Amino acid sequence: MWRETTQHQRNLEIWKREFESFVPLRVLDFHVHVVNAAALPSGESLNVAGHLVRHYDFEELERDLPAVYPGRETLAVCFGWPSPRFDLTENNRYVAAHCDGHRFFGLRLLDPAEKPAQVRDDVAQGGFYGFKPYLNYVRKEDPNQVEIREMLPEAIMEIADELGLAVMLHIPRSARLADPLNQQQLIGLCRSYPNSKIVLAHIGRAYYLSNVVGHLDALAAWPNLYIDTAMLNNAEVLEHAFRVFPRERILYGTDIPIALAPGKSVEINDQYTYVTPVPWELSISDHRGKLIFTSFLYEQLRAIRKAVERLGLGPDFIHALFYDNGMRVLQSIRK
Ligand SMILES: [Zn+2]
Repeated sequence: MWRETTQHQRNLEIWKREFESFVPLRVLDFHVHVVNAAALPSGESLNVAGHLVRHYDFEELERDLPAVYPGRETLAVCFGWPSPRFDLTENNRYVAAHCDGHRFFGLRLLDPAEKPAQVRDDVAQGGFYGFKPYLNYVRKEDPNQVEIREMLPEAIMEIADELGLAVMLHIPRSARLADPLNQQQLIGLCRSYPNSKIVLAHIGRAYYLSNVVGHLDALAAWPNLYIDTAMLNNAEVLEHAFRVFPRERILYGTDIPIALAPGKSVEINDQYTYVTPVPWELSISDHRGKLIFTSFLYEQLRAIRKAVERLGLGPDFIHALFYDNGMRVLQSIRK
């Protein structure tokens, strides 16, 4: 089983020792992927940190959340798996059908080639809280050349602005937050569409300190820009973000299902990689079996706790991070 939850005794011990007294009673995860088998063409699978599966559905999510956070009330912002090879319409339909606006809140996968009028109708009918664009939907030969504005056409951003929608943005380009074009286009989005909420997934993919220092600071003043903590296992990056970025705009997110898999992201010489027990295209794998892993998610909780303790942040910060900030975003979206 690829899921590292408290169903394994060693994870239960970690929970009791490190998180039972730290994680608040309510947890709103702002970054969760859900995909049903019907959205996958035959022969396709999801690669969950090196583990191939055919789906990660709401039944699994409802089973996993209490096994990750025993005794907690859990809520999640959910969206599909953004692969151009999968059926976007079917994945969006599935997410909409299971998001009730009480426990689960849906974002709509967005292909920039879609017709804006249809997207608008679909948002209303599906009760979506925003969009999940992705660089691969731009379909460039070199995905590193994709620009943010190509992922988010103007007509789509006008809809987001009008309805106050959230945009869960995984920024493109290899320099990430340090890329001047990204910086310029992010500021352009914030300025032109002030009523939309732009969420920089994974703190702008800044998994290593040199990518965040100086680059996140430059964006902090934009009042409709948010960051989520998904897959951030690096306490120094989190500490920096908690110090320089307005605290009411930092959202707890994980990247379930990937975050449930065993592994950790590590910084080496101003770069990062993942280390996993099994081979994965994004990782260095421990083929000698030297390590006993826990989930990326528990490594993330550890890093958050470490950053919180170093900065001497109190319960107000922790409650805001794990619940209040995200809930405020959701409540501000016109329904
Ligand atoms: Zn994600």
